[in-house]
Amino acid sequence: MSQHYPFEAEPLPYAYDALEPHLDARTLTFHHDKHLQTYVDNLNKALEPFPAFHGKCLRELLRSENDLPETARTAVHNNAGGVYNHHLYFRTMGGRSGDRPTGALAAAIDRDFGSFDRFQQKIKEAALTQFGSGWAWLVSDGEKRLRILKTPNQDTPLTLDLHPLTLVDVWEHAYYLQYQNKRADYLDHWLNVVDWKAVEALYDAI
Ligand code: MN
Repeated sequence: MSQHYPFEAEPLPYAYDALEPHLDARTLTFHHDKHLQTYVDNLNKALEPFPAFHGKCLRELLRSENDLPETARTAVHNNAGGVYNHHLYFRTMGGRSGDRPTGALAAAIDRDFGSFDRFQQKIKEAALTQFGSGWAWLVSDGEKRLRILKTPNQDTPLTLDLHPLTLVDVWEHAYYLQYQNKRADYLDHWLNVVDWKAVEALYDAI
């Protein structure tokens, strides 16, 4: 997350077919190599005329959008959000079916949602009820309390002083090739490939 202009798409931390049968290689290849790459290219294009912002990381760009020149603000909001969201999405997948959170994160999930099953139901519900394109998130506040929320388009919760832990992409491009309009099926399969070790590392670092 510490890279700055010119941004590059982070390589997937696993093979394109590593998440099959839950997410097939075709879906993941288009999603990573085409959709993410487009956000990266458009972000670089938007920042190119403004060297004063070339040292800022994604988090800094997104948290201080109002400092950006007005002509670049919308493009940076949408594309820095797109890059940040996709990097976290790809980075927190790669787990194996049946994996569960452990340690402090597991205890916090039980405390804040009742149980791991209840957490899964709640994030699925948030993702299903995000009208149109967007994301459903598991986030922590500075006191390590967990929340689920959803954002439209490429918005992030970074401006709310929340720490994103993982998220699921509900833009149709994330699932349409494999699941067509069946967003609920895609969400069940996403829950099978969350890399809980990666999510725990983010939680432990807060
Ligand atoms: Mn996407």
